[in-house]
Amino acid sequence: MRTSHKINTEEKNLVKLKVRNMKLRCIECGREYPIDEVRYRCDCGDLLEVVHDLNDLDAENLRELFDKRWGSMQFPYNSGVWRYKELILDVDDKFIVSKPEGNTNLYRAGKAGEYAGVKRMFLKHEGENPTASFKDRGMTCGVTAAKMLGCKKVACASTGNTSASMAAYASIAGMEAIVFIPEGKIAFGKLAQALAYGAKTLQIEGNFDDAMQLVQQVCSELNIYLLNSINPFRIEGQKAIAFEILQQLNWEVPDWFVLPGGNLGNNSALSKALRELYEIGIIDKIPRIAVIQAHGANPLYRMWKNKTPFKPVQAETIATAVKIGNPVSWKKSIRGLKWSNGVVEEVSEQEIMDAKAMIDRAGIGAEPASCCTVAGTKKLVEAGIINKDDLVVGILTGNLLKDPDSVVNYHLSRLKGIKSTYANRPIKIKATVKAAKQALIES
Ligand SMILES: *Cc1c(COP(=O)(O)O)cnc(C)c1O
Ligand SMILES: [Zn+2]
Repeated sequence: MRTSHKINTEEKNLVKLKVRNMKLRCIECGREYPIDEVRYRCDCGDLLEVVHDLNDLDAENLRELFDKRWGSMQFPYNSGVWRYKELILDVDDKFIVSKPEGNTNLYRAGKAGEYAGVKRMFLKHEGENPTASFKDRGMTCGVTAAKMLGCKKVACASTGNTSASMAAYASIAGMEAIVFIPEGKIAFGKLAQALAYGAKTLQIEGNFDDAMQLVQQVCSELNIYLLNSINPFRIEGQKAIAFEILQQLNWEVPDWFVLPGGNLGNNSALSKALRELYEIGIIDKIPRIAVIQAHGANPLYRMWKNKTPFKPVQAETIATAVKIGNPVSWKKSIRGLKWSNGVVEEVSEQEIMDAKAMIDRAGIGAEPASCCTVAGTKKLVEAGIINKDDLVVGILTGNLLKDPDSVVNYHLSRLKGIKSTYANRPIKIKATVKAAKQALIES
């Protein structure tokens, strides 16, 4: 497979002038490439990352700048990604494609925190993004890069949320969106979005990992810009989750960040963000990161726990957003775990859905994959790894309404192999006051 391709070079000179102090670098061999080359892998085959020149950034000035932009109504600083532009993609505003995204709530975890067993827990609700998942943060950056590079067509493989997000941003940017989704089992809310926003949707006979393989080949052959999280600009945008959480905590550094792991882009972004803030001197310690995988899609967990080489698995889980057996970013993920003295944990289907019931009932709500966060925190507290007094921030990656089937089926006790521990069943009654009274007094 080719590792790079040309798309359209008309705007190339322009781009050179507009992108400041950035290059692409291989995470394995260190080889560097210009930032305006369409390329997702090094010639050695490994992943690339965006490297910023952090030398001329001053911690105090930068923090002040970010704080001054907080609450701004002015494009692009009204976005919770572009507020941190200097650390993400310092590009001319005219290229920026923004909905705007971010500015999501950081909730006190309440009952969900009690359930997890920690006293001070916050839940960052990334399901409050414009297309209802954290993917919008990476996508605004990825589609902006596509525009900057002069691309007209973009594609991704997706378990649902990436396609929903890409479809929306491509539409705004006037680009054609092509999505590859695995057959069956894609949550209804997500499929609905991809179709609604007008993406050309290819439902392939195979799982996500097959779709991921295929989209890389197709993009290379047909010169289409690839917007999976193998795209280093996606990772840059997702870093903003960390920046925004810290800003919401008035730059107090938590002890832990806990988040689900699927294709492993998000935790890679988180660790990169924290390391950069640390290097600049905006924070003086790097919080620990806990990546939580579903038991049925746990290649990172196996590798980390057993200290064995990375080996893909056949993925199966109710948490469809993390139903990925061969995650693209495992190497970046491992590197980030080293930087952050991180841990990996796995959770069962039962633990995911019970944690979900608690997050939902706390009035916060999230889709199943997100709930690995609270389920995993609970396990790590029980194992004595997370301390009850630690300040813990869990990331909820997607909205409750993405997967309404999983909610209703849980509460109606219709999930195979899962006990509906906290079911809230609807009560059927006759349409009379008497029947209503009876139901309300009895229950
Ligand atoms: C994409 C996604 C994940 C997994 O994130 P990775 O970066 O692939 O590890 C988790 N939860 C939700 C809701 C997602 O959409
Ligand atoms: Zn290399």
